[in-house]
Parts: sequence; structure tokens; C-alpha cells
Amino acid sequence: MYQTKTMEKLEMMECPQCGGSMPVKRRELGYHVCVNCSTVSAKRGVPVMRGTGDHTWVDLEVMTQEQFERYEEMENKTKSEIRPNKANKDNLQGPFTIVETDK
Ligand SMILES: [Zn+2]
Repeated sequence: MYQTKTMEKLEMMECPQCGGSMPVKRRELGYHVCVNCSTVSAKRGVPVMRGTGDHTWVDLEVMTQEQFERYEEMENKTKSEIRPNKANKDNLQGPFTIVETDK
């Protein structure tokens, strides 16, 4: 006879944002909305340099997770354009032929 593993019963509560159910434990961990909501509405602050010449300042751009990913993608692209020697295979785009040499 084998014993059923005692699972901690997940107490659910209503997500204040979408009304869906979320585990109470999640709130105990410091989250106030369900997984769905926190993924959708996660905001990222990104320092952005503004101005030209001597007059520059750093602004904090607040982006959604989606915007942030797009921004990072753009940043990576820009960097690989500046330093074309730094091979980053993940970011290779365009009409390149990739020759595998270590065969
Ligand atoms: Zn929710």
C-alpha cells in the first residue's frame, strides 16, 4: 500500500485585476495579481540617454515587458552593427550564408 503524497492545498483567491483565481501563496510572496496579469502588465524602467552634445541627461523610460523586449532586440542589433566583429549568431539577420566549419 502506498501513501498519497501530502500536497499542500493551494488556497485560491480572486485576482484583483482580472477577477480570475490566483493562489493566496502568491500574494504572500509579494505579488498582488495573478501570473497572467503580472506578465502582461510588468513594467520595466530603462535608462535612456537624451539630449545632444554637452546637454545630455538620463531619462527613465517605463516600458511594458513587451516593449522592453523589443527595445532590447533593437539595442542588440545596434550594438552588433557598431561592432561587426563580435559574432552573435542569434542576432544574424539578412542574406548571410552560414558555413559550418567544424564538421
Ligand atoms: Zn489576474
